[in-house]
Amino acid sequence: MSELFVRTLRDDPSDAEVASHRWLVRAGYIRRVAPGIYSWLPLGLKVMAKVEQIIREEMTAAGAQEVRFPALLPREPYEATGRWTEYGDGIFRLRDRKDADYLLGPTHEEIFALTVKDLYSSYKDLPLTLFQVQTKYRDEARPRAGLLRGREFVMKDAYSFDVDEAGLARSYAVQRAAYQRIFDRLGFEYVVVKAMSGAMGGSMSEEFLALSPIGEDTFVRSPGGYAANVEAVTVPVPDPVDATGVPAAHVEATPGSPTIETLVAALNADHPREDRPWEAADTLKNVLFVVTRPDGTREELAVGLPGDRDVDPKRLEAQLGEGAVFAPFAEADFARHTQLVKGYIGPGVLGSEGPTGIRYLLDPRVVDGTAWVTGADEADRHVLHLVKGRDFTADGVIEVAEVRAGDPAPDGSGPLELARGIEMGHIFALGTKYSDALGLKVLDPNGKLVTVQMGSYGVGVSRAVAAVAEAGCDEKGLCWPRELAPYAVTVVATGKGDEPLEVATGIATALAEQGIDVLLDDRKASPGVKFADSEVLGMPTVVVVGRGLADGVVEVRDRRSGDRVEVAVESAVAHLL
Ligand code: ATP
Ligand code: MG
Ligand code: MG
Ligand code: MG
Repeated sequence: MSELFVRTLRDDPSDAEVASHRWLVRAGYIRRVAPGIYSWLPLGLKVMAKVEQIIREEMTAAGAQEVRFPALLPREPYEATGRWTEYGDGIFRLRDRKDADYLLGPTHEEIFALTVKDLYSSYKDLPLTLFQVQTKYRDEARPRAGLLRGREFVMKDAYSFDVDEAGLARSYAVQRAAYQRIFDRLGFEYVVVKAMSGAMGGSMSEEFLALSPIGEDTFVRSPGGYAANVEAVTVPVPDPVDATGVPAAHVEATPGSPTIETLVAALNADHPREDRPWEAADTLKNVLFVVTRPDGTREELAVGLPGDRDVDPKRLEAQLGEGAVFAPFAEADFARHTQLVKGYIGPGVLGSEGPTGIRYLLDPRVVDGTAWVTGADEADRHVLHLVKGRDFTADGVIEVAEVRAGDPAPDGSGPLELARGIEMGHIFALGTKYSDALGLKVLDPNGKLVTVQMGSYGVGVSRAVAAVAEAGCDEKGLCWPRELAPYAVTVVATGKGDEPLEVATGIATALAEQGIDVLLDDRKASPGVKFADSEVLGMPTVVVVGRGLADGVVEVRDRRSGDRVEVAVESAVAHLL
């Protein structure tokens, strides 16, 4: 440890919202360089390497072959599939010296499809599954929680190529099983949920969500085995009614629809914002405010995120009239008001580009005389509860419904339970979306050209490091499972004279010879500092060599339980194997 490039910090990083972020920075595993961009220091890199190793082993066992594609990619393939536009602000774009457009890859379907197209031409070449562990770039609207939502992050992405749908179903099943093994080995408590394919396209997709209260995804599940991301839940849609209780008309709304224009105009007129007018696709994850006016009328408004410069109650108050009282909605209330969107891009859905390339949805409808606009991307929802009385009934209802705990599941099982999770992995049966756009075809056994069926399969590798940290850490610091810890054991030498360090070095060397990763704290620091650091750094087992030496013993501490046992010096190594 006297040589290791690590410094533990006494203070929380100012932007730390979640425990894993706080401790990974304080324990010197990562350092922030810019929003959502982190450097990996030796300890962090060791954990990530262990996560990668598990993923590599399972991918290889599933028959996938490892490759590495560039992060810097030309515009044209993304133009061909429409994603150059669809991704909107969600990708980093750049120009070279000849003024050609490039992007930093957010995900690599296009380039994999093109490479297979270059090299393969026959059904005999398939099936094929390729994977890479590689750095991805997404200009996330809200990078947060350290590694959990980065703008540069590491993903394992795999792509399968099959000659027909039955082949795709097989490849998908093989990857799905590999994912289960990966998340089992990473030690997650997770659920596999039905998910939205979103802008990725394709017929079916599932997410692997690690159960966590800090997760950004909400999912439902029933004891009957139904599990779905709330975005993908299909439940009967209650008929919206207008102020008089008369059901509003269901009419398709299209981009630029007068309904949306009216709503946006109303917002800009009634609640103008100084720096940025309201637009059809506004920020997501908005916070609801209840506005109570002096005359007693109440109104609910959604404006920006906590900490966002949009949310300035003082300014809002000035805008909304004197005497208006603001109260932020509790999270639970927000959930109550959250409207869930059933379909992605379909009739009645207004698409505008979102930060992740997944389109925001705007759904105007009138319930109890109040017009609602619902926006959603794949992870977020927002609700605008607008001014009463205006005539918003003209058009614009899509299939929207609210899912509540206790409701029956769409498959009849129930009651539904709502919980939160961190999206760790996402698998897609893409079908021919990319191969059609890029002309990826092979000859079938009859000499006929057929379009290749693709699947794509992602795991958030850097996100997994944070999620494991999040699940394990406590008020003292990190706490790793043995399989993922940078070192399985920390040997701490304390006390005067040469003997403690000599004994500690002996134990550490013997353990290393047995193939155990050991960290030796040989620093000239006080025992208090060393013990505190050993807790912050979070190796699962700590061996303290010091005071007990007089009696020929060392102390073995379990980081998680705090249990301590004394072990004779001679048997210490055997005890730790
Ligand atoms: P999210 O809903 O959290 O934004 P996503 O659905 O956009 O994720 P995918 O396109 O499905 O992500 O990418 C595959 C995997 O990559 C995700 O399941 C997640 O584990 C990881 N991932 C995606 N975005 C990020 C990010 N910004 N930082 C870290 N990991 C990410
Ligand atoms: Mg995303
Ligand atoms: Mg998602
Ligand atoms: Mg996803």
